[in-house]
Amino acid sequence: RWIYLNGEFVKKEDAKISVFDHGLLYGDGIFEGIRVYNGNVFKCKEHIDRLYDSANSILLEIGLTKSELTEVMLETVRRNGMKDAYIRLVVSRGVGDLGLDPRKCPKATVIIIVEELAIFPKDHYETGIRIITVPTRRNTPDALNPKIKSLNYLNNVLVKIEANLAGVSEALMLNAQGYVCEGSGDNIFVIKDNIIYTPPSYLGALEGITRNSIMKLAIEAGYTVKEEPFTRHDVYIADEVFLTGTAVEVIAVNEVDGRKIGDGRPGPITNTLLEKFKSIVEVDGKQ
Ligand code: PLP
Repeated sequence: RWIYLNGEFVKKEDAKISVFDHGLLYGDGIFEGIRVYNGNVFKCKEHIDRLYDSANSILLEIGLTKSELTEVMLETVRRNGMKDAYIRLVVSRGVGDLGLDPRKCPKATVIIIVEELAIFPKDHYETGIRIITVPTRRNTPDALNPKIKSLNYLNNVLVKIEANLAGVSEALMLNAQGYVCEGSGDNIFVIKDNIIYTPPSYLGALEGITRNSIMKLAIEAGYTVKEEPFTRHDVYIADEVFLTGTAVEVIAVNEVDGRKIGDGRPGPITNTLLEKFKSIVEVDGKQ
């Protein structure tokens, strides 16, 4: 494996950063997760744009233009010779002193990792997964906005721990008002009476690129898609529930807080959208 680290390609075992890096000391940084399908970087521009939006929002100077970063990212993929992979772009504030002042960090740390990634076992995609809702709340947009894909993922990690302790695959965060926001690393969709709902991102969710692709595919397929607030109750009574994300892709949910969803198996609309998603991932970027 070759890792891009601050302008150089280094071997995985040599890819090391300073203990004074503010990404480590303060979670001061941003990241993206991107998929390569059959040699194609899926939604490349959307991910690069979101990375720069996150950077702008926290006043972080990446030090490379979008096209320079895209080029080194593609070069990292080529060097690793992988046709199907997961790319992790990480940009931290860089090395500073022990104070948190970013002015002491003259240069951002830029890391590009290309790896295999499988969040859930393969059979979970056929059966669907069990999830719960958890007491950990999604931070609201008046604090660290969930639209910023920052290195502060402790909330999300706590949610994953809650899921692990409950013996389920994933967990949903609600916001302070009790509206469903998203999973620890994925967006949620529910389907009721053939209408597809997903929470508006202003409630407290990352505007997922997979989410946006699925919405577009669903609309193209003739479904009504609504970005509308909903509660746990609406999830419990849904006909179908599924999660989307670059890492998890599209995965059906068969149980939420012990309530069976539909007949307990991935539903027909979920399966249709999953098939449509599979059919676009390899051609995107070639168009
Ligand atoms: N929500 C959170 C908190 C995430 O970390 C992710 C992963 O990137 C998503 C949703 C899904 O977003 P995307 O489809 O852009 O990967």
